[in-house]
Amino acid sequence: MTTPICLVGIGKIAVDQHVPAINASADWTLAATVSRSGTVDGVPAFDNFDHMLAERPDISVVSLCLPPVPRFDYAAKAIAAGRHVMLEKPPGATLAEVQILQAMAQDAGVTLFATWHSRMAKGVAPAKAWLAGKTITGGQITWKEDVRRWHPGQDWVFEPGGMGVFDPGSNALSIMTEILPVPVFLQKATLEFPANRDTPIAAQMQWSHNVKGDFDWRQEGPQSWDITIATTAGTLTLHDGGARLLIDGVEQHAGPDREYPALYDRMVDLIRTGACDVDLAPMVHVADALTLGKRVTVAPFAF
Ligand code: NAP
Repeated sequence: MTTPICLVGIGKIAVDQHVPAINASADWTLAATVSRSGTVDGVPAFDNFDHMLAERPDISVVSLCLPPVPRFDYAAKAIAAGRHVMLEKPPGATLAEVQILQAMAQDAGVTLFATWHSRMAKGVAPAKAWLAGKTITGGQITWKEDVRRWHPGQDWVFEPGGMGVFDPGSNALSIMTEILPVPVFLQKATLEFPANRDTPIAAQMQWSHNVKGDFDWRQEGPQSWDITIATTAGTLTLHDGGARLLIDGVEQHAGPDREYPALYDRMVDLIRTGACDVDLAPMVHVADALTLGKRVTVAPFAF
């Protein structure tokens, strides 16, 4: 038997990842969409979330693919209506709002899953296992991509709450906070804000344990999603956003890459066990960067 699910916010990530992951799963049926303009062929479409909640009591799970700022209101309504909820990353515009959603979900007895898709990349679990118990001597995150390619025309990423380069950067932070055997804290950051925008387009970060991060949204050509962690017992490298793992330069074989299908598998388990999974650690580092970081102004940005 499959579980009916509703996808909300039919934009780039819903079309690229969520719809294929749901359609390929034996556990789920895409039973409805809610979007002001987007639809999925053959799936009942609503343009009003309240109407969907009222008219489709059979749909027990809602997956929110909206940008972070509008997401809270949708999540709160879904929880109040007794639905289980999946949140795209980053899970909200602020830490406090996600904590409130978590408390609401617990009170309502429904599952809230704040997803971090990069944690499902195939090299991440073996990287965490290899680093367990080891002594970290340093680390380097290099997360450089082309915002025009991954967020074409999406002005929300440069509006307050859009988080700028920390939108993709939170993927790196989700891996860092998952695999490191010790917690690290931010000591210094420089944030580059385009003169015409409200969020940073690049950031250089320095954490404790000599872990550094270089985030940039202006990289054309090959994209860089790499993390290297040095330990007293060798060096670990994740390439391609966590899909490839190397230990001391030797490629490891970690199985099939299925980030979004794995998120939906996990949601099945969370609902079955009556659990929530809400880890704000990656967002804490984003908030700390915006608290501690030195702001510099760089050239205006246009899509
Ligand atoms: P998007 O295409 O700009 O937005 C998704 C949809 O959300 C839009 O199509 C829009 O649908 C709806 N929406 C936008 N603003 C809204 C508002 N103020 N109120 C109600 N609905 C609104 O963005 P996306 O790239 O899919 O990203 C969405 C989320 O997925 C973000 O949190 C992002 O970090 C995450 N994500 C994105 C990528 C990527 O490569 N782009 C990868 C992984 C995760 P309607 O206008 O039809 O309502």
